[in-house]
Amino acid sequence: MTPPKVGICKTCPARIFFGEMPSGAHNPFDAAPTANGTHAIARFFGATPMMRTAAATDAERYTSHFATCPNASTHRRRSTPRGRTREAVTG
Ligand SMILES: [Zn+2]
Repeated sequence: MTPPKVGICKTCPARIFFGEMPSGAHNPFDAAPTANGTHAIARFFGATPMMRTAAATDAERYTSHFATCPNASTHRRRSTPRGRTREAVTG
């Protein structure tokens, strides 16, 4: 099974596709399945692969591109802004 809508990572030459996580987030995955991938395609919702945690019996498992991209740090949004204002300590 070839994932649909395979594209190229913005910051490296890898072929990736976007899958929807159970949380609803869309995450990039390496287009080529790997034996030790962490996720598998549960089903398709339209053209969007719905991802789930891979089971040992899954033939095609996919690895999050966050784990393999050499520039992964540029993909992730900062969850905590730097220089966040500290709460004033009184007393
Ligand atoms: Zn990349």
